[in-house]
Amino acid sequence: MSNFDRKSYDQEYYKNNRERIIEKNRKYYAENRDDILKKSRDAYKLNPEKFKAIQKRSWNKNKQDPLWMNEYRRKRREYKRQRVMSLIKQLGGKCMRCGYSVYPVILQFHHKTLVKRQTNEYPHFTRGEILFKDVSLKDYELLCPNCHCEKHLELGEEVEEVVTG
Ligand SMILES: [Zn+2]
Repeated sequence: MSNFDRKSYDQEYYKNNRERIIEKNRKYYAENRDDILKKSRDAYKLNPEKFKAIQKRSWNKNKQDPLWMNEYRRKRREYKRQRVMSLIKQLGGKCMRCGYSVYPVILQFHHKTLVKRQTNEYPHFTRGEILFKDVSLKDYELLCPNCHCEKHLELGEEVEEVVTG
């Protein structure tokens, strides 16, 4: 086997065992999540520019692959769901004003220090900020949608601003 081509062998192997490999990686990730995330954070701190370049390269490559994208979206959805539920639980699991808790998943995070909407970058009813950034939970109040609206009206916002968020 003098002209054995390792790269095409690996590619072929991956193609034929794709599902199995993905499943294995998923399992590995689930079992070692904290470790992996810590290593990744450390690498980022060490050299952010290099890390970003690597991420961009692999993202550009992976996004061409519909199966990879499906898996990416699935993981992202799952992450969001778990993160939201964990934050809701940490904040007591019920509306801090009226005690609503029938469907905890609809509770919203009111940013206490961000009292008034200044730009569209921070609409009140988005969870982007709390989902993807390291935030301090004491800056947030857990409110049901109704109390959240009332809160912003009390803070002097216009009805249009509050209900079209
Ligand atoms: Zn409420």
